[in-house]
Amino acid sequence: MITTTNKDIKEYKHEPFTDFALKENKNEFYKALEIVQAELGKDYPLIIGGESITTPEKIVSINPADKEEVIGRVSKADQGLAEKAMQVALSTFNTWKKENSEARANILFRAADIIRRRKHEFSGYLVKEAGKPWKEADADTAEAIDFLEFYARQMVQLKDGAPVQSREGEVNKFNYIPLGVGVIISPFNFPLAIMAGTAAAAIVAGNTILLKPANNTPVIAAKFVEVMKEAGLPEGVLNYVPGSGAEIGDYLVDHPKTRFVSFTGSREVGCRIYERAAKVQSGQIWLKRVIAEMGGKDTVVVDKDADLDLAASSIVYSAFGFSGQKCSAGSRAVVHQDVYEEVLEKAVTLTKTLTMGNPMDVDTYMGPVIDQASYNKITKYIEIGKEEGRLVAGGEADDSKGYFIQPTIFADVDEKARLMQEEIFGPVVAFCKARDFDHMMEIANNTDYGLTGALLSNTPAHIERAKEEFHVGNLYFNRGCTGAIVGYHPFGGFNMSGTDSKAGGPDYLILHMQAKTTSETI
Ligand code: NAP
Repeated sequence: MITTTNKDIKEYKHEPFTDFALKENKNEFYKALEIVQAELGKDYPLIIGGESITTPEKIVSINPADKEEVIGRVSKADQGLAEKAMQVALSTFNTWKKENSEARANILFRAADIIRRRKHEFSGYLVKEAGKPWKEADADTAEAIDFLEFYARQMVQLKDGAPVQSREGEVNKFNYIPLGVGVIISPFNFPLAIMAGTAAAAIVAGNTILLKPANNTPVIAAKFVEVMKEAGLPEGVLNYVPGSGAEIGDYLVDHPKTRFVSFTGSREVGCRIYERAAKVQSGQIWLKRVIAEMGGKDTVVVDKDADLDLAASSIVYSAFGFSGQKCSAGSRAVVHQDVYEEVLEKAVTLTKTLTMGNPMDVDTYMGPVIDQASYNKITKYIEIGKEEGRLVAGGEADDSKGYFIQPTIFADVDEKARLMQEEIFGPVVAFCKARDFDHMMEIANNTDYGLTGALLSNTPAHIERAKEEFHVGNLYFNRGCTGAIVGYHPFGGFNMSGTDSKAGGPDYLILHMQAKTTSETI
């Protein structure tokens, strides 16, 4: 039995990243990749109420760096199986909601330990199934561990509710109780961290869930489900139902017994879920709660007195880390006219040094994009970019073996151009020239989104102004705009970036609960 008393949330230090410059770490990672390689092509069942269910129809998960390589064949839930999972989750809720908070937290602590022990193996799956280079995969796994540790600690902190006043002759209490059955819908781009974090938060708060991972990355989710079982999670609390978003996604979002939906993904799907969940269905006796964390069009802003080398590297690494497939990716660089040419030149020079290739290789900086649809969408934006700007780096793509697109920079793009407004979700960054600081802030806020942003500046007054005016959920100074750490940089955006739930933040777990006031007269 783990004791939770010494697990103070304030003392949690995030999981360290692996230093792959060290030979022993490199060797360990290669060994883990061999373990993963030996497991490729396996079949994975659905898990409903602890029962493994195999369906004739499968989701075939492939390696985006090598289309011929099958990562796994995953059974696919239809509406009948989704309904079965819903019924199991509903009945399991009656017991799980009564489990004490510390026992629930202990399961997450154990799960974190299991993943920590097999860290490189999980990262190996991320390399293979999501095409993540080693460093990106390692960060994804570390973040999953952090979410488990953080939410477990947060649940222990919340177990007795929050203090309220009591008058003489009465005892008043304010406690958090779980909501019910939650539908967890996760994206492909943090297939371990976001999937595990959103699932674990719902579970530790006392809810039962149906987990629908992205179709591109169901194997890593199946591995997480195995971990939760090993950690002692009772059957029926986490029901694993991969399937088509259109078929079972809509069905579960509409379901009258769904109490809440926790979604992370695109604006298009997020808005659809928000709208559908708002409709009260026959037999439904609550208003569904929706957490929807959606896309971004994030900006790195460079002031005229900034450190220009730091500015260029902040732009380049924010734009091209994991091939630009982060909601926080810096896909727009807004640079003061006095330093524009110099920053652009430095960014182009740095971009040309980036290595692109199979993420199996430790020296690969950038791997493929996730699938053919993404490849087609991004290459279309590159054609649009050729009309809207000046191509100064990259622009080439090749999908013969995997979905590879060069890191691409367009210069001299107008602030209202599509490249400056629409989420591309690929390795493409647009440079835009600004007249002065007012103009920089105006451009920074001129999209529908408001997720992340960064300002490179050495003018304290500009930094203070940006704190007030730059309207994004996560704002960074003198660094890039990606790389939020659980507990340090609670994450979530404004406007069309979503409901600003702030994953890894102090209020997150409460979104999965409802507060009950009791007043006892004595
Ligand atoms: P996506 O296409 O919206 O898919 C996300 C999830 O929604 C997948 O599991 C998908 O299933 C499912 N889905 C699709 N249609 C559905 C429907 N009608 N009902 C219910 N679920 C449905 O997003 P993605 O391409 O995986 O991820 C990239 C997007 O996520 C980007 O826009 C990125 O900015 C955003 N993102 C945001 C955050 C954040 O914290 N704000 C974090 C990460 C990613 P299928 O795979 O079966 O289609």
